[in-house]
Amino acid sequence: MAELLNGNRVRDQIKAELAPRIAALAARGRQPGLAVVLVGRNPASEIYVRNKIKACADLGIYSETITPPESVTTDELLAVVGELNGRAGIDGILVQLPLPPQVDAKRILLAIAPEKDADGIHPYNVGCLVAGLPAPRACTPAGILELLARYRIPVAGKRAVVVGRSDIVGKPVAFLLLHANATVTICHSKTPDLAGICRQADILVAAMGRPASITGDFIQPGATVIDVGTNHIADRALVARIFRDSAEKLAAFDKRGSLLVGDVHPLDVAERAGAYSPVPGGVGPLTIAMLMVNTVAAAERRAGLSRDC
Ligand code: NDP
Repeated sequence: MAELLNGNRVRDQIKAELAPRIAALAARGRQPGLAVVLVGRNPASEIYVRNKIKACADLGIYSETITPPESVTTDELLAVVGELNGRAGIDGILVQLPLPPQVDAKRILLAIAPEKDADGIHPYNVGCLVAGLPAPRACTPAGILELLARYRIPVAGKRAVVVGRSDIVGKPVAFLLLHANATVTICHSKTPDLAGICRQADILVAAMGRPASITGDFIQPGATVIDVGTNHIADRALVARIFRDSAEKLAAFDKRGSLLVGDVHPLDVAERAGAYSPVPGGVGPLTIAMLMVNTVAAAERRAGLSRDC
């Protein structure tokens, strides 16, 4: 039976480790502060932001949500970011994506002061990642490496395959795995024989946004499989097919009208993998935990308590 990589457990460990660091800052009269910019009324984004704010409250991190309307312009949003860049009590800034089409998202992300980039996706910080220099790391990829490390899953010398090449997950996790001395292959929608490449992986990271598409034939028996996918399925027949008519899953679907499924087939992975992160309860909680880590580390740097990242 495959080992379950429990993201909630690792999140709790990370939060417990942050508590004394936050107390040390408090002793210097400093409370870490995170500002979240949430444009418009995207229900999924609202849930993500609520969870981030709750995590801040649990830890005693100051948080603030700025909610410009859906009609906001690039210039207006640049002004919001500029004000947060200059504000002493704010250590981390996060602009929740996606932004509306009229906003130049690249300009907004570039405007965030790199030292306050709580999401670790500013090109300056991406450059530091590529060069192996200390800087805030992208939260989901950093969480994945934490999960592997805390479950003592060897990375050095292993063959890692990352499916997905986005700036927030695929590319940065590939670089983190590379720096941890894995031999890394990045796959995407134009990759031929995806299953064949995935089957070579000792560590397989799925970040595509395609529900349950990494099936058993993609998984080398005994591999470690990290499922980043977060797909809300609203099609009952699809739920029935994925979960092989599980009465429990169908009841859960009927109650909520949708079901959260990863990119990895949840039943196949349990049969084939040596270890895997489930959805929900795998990578998701770690993303928020690493956001807290980035915010606290930024506060420490700004308070003169040196922290690399
Ligand atoms: P993007 O849509 O930005 O990127 C998806 C990537 O997957 C692209 O590189 C795309 O290839 C590739 N891809 C899509 N379809 C296929 C296919 N059939 N075969 C091979 N590759 C494919 O997504 P994100 O990276 O932002 O997110 C990926 C998933 O992870 C989503 O479900 C998202 O919700 C989830 N997520 C979860 C987080 C968490 O905290 N748990 C955090 C962030 C994301 P190409 O480049 O060629 O188009």
